[in-house]
Amino acid sequence: MFVIYKKKYIVWGVAAVLFAVGCFSAVYGIKASSIRADKPVIVIDAGHGGADGGVSGISTGVKESSLNLKFAFLLKAAVENQGYRAVLTRTTEAGLYETAFNTLEETRKSKDMRKRKEIIVASKPACVVSLHMNFFSQSSIRGAQVFYNSENPESKKLAKILQGRVNNLNREYAKRDVTALPGDYYITKAADYPACILECGFLSNPDEERLLLDPEYQEKLIYEAVNGIIIYLNTKSRSPDSADG
Ligand SMILES: [Zn+2]
Repeated sequence: MFVIYKKKYIVWGVAAVLFAVGCFSAVYGIKASSIRADKPVIVIDAGHGGADGGVSGISTGVKESSLNLKFAFLLKAAVENQGYRAVLTRTTEAGLYETAFNTLEETRKSKDMRKRKEIIVASKPACVVSLHMNFFSQSSIRGAQVFYNSENPESKKLAKILQGRVNNLNREYAKRDVTALPGDYYITKAADYPACILECGFLSNPDEERLLLDPEYQEKLIYEAVNGIIIYLNTKSRSPDSADG
């Protein structure tokens, strides 16, 4: 008797647990997939980091890698504010490589880039925006500029829209319209997702450097960038061959 009851209890106990697990995963499974469908992911890549500080501000010496990170957090907040999900490739000043001693710069760089690619691929983003600061030998040159991989038509579309938006600021501050250009950059070719590089401005131009460090100007630039992203995503969702993911 005792043994039979025990078996019965075990059978019912197992059945109850399986039922509970089934209900739980059904409810949460549906919830998780609806979030994925409703909220596209934008990968925001803060260029450089760690030993690779990028270029430096001509007046203040500010490191490009720090400013890129600052802009990345601002863009993340703006993108999330619009109901999208944002994934940052880096969230600290460190580069994306192990800090093993004796690491050659070349090895470090390729590990860093490979890690960024892994994050992009794992995120299945609607688009990728890599943030950088520009530098040129002629200090008079200024303005925000977008670069894209010419072999990806979606990247070109994203770049042109983004450039159009940041030109609202270029016209006012740099007194010129800037053209989005094709460029041979790893991050824009790392995966098939629409991707571009936004060079926020020239750290070789003292006036633009000052603006890039000014929270008010930073907000203006992020406003244009996030609008560009939204306009691009809207064109994508309207096109008949738009792929979800
Ligand atoms: Zn850079």
